Amino acid sequence: MKQGIHPDYQECTVSCACGNTFTTGSVKGNLRVDVCSKCHPFFTGQQRAAQARGRIEQFNKRYGK
Ligand SMILES: [Zn+2]
Repeated sequence: MKQGIHPDYQECTVSCACGNTFTTGSVKGNLRVDVCSKCHPFFTGQQRAAQARGRIEQFNKRYGK
């Protein structure tokens, strides 16, 4: 790689809304996410699907249709 032309790629800590944290490579510093591989419905068996629907309703209420 050439020096000086690439963004600073570094290890960063991602914090999820469920409390899970993990590290990944990113050009950003620390990140916050709402859903991660530990709590995504796909991995938890639709456990939080109702909550996800609530978020969509919240969004529609806030931004209208
Ligand atoms: Zn999570």
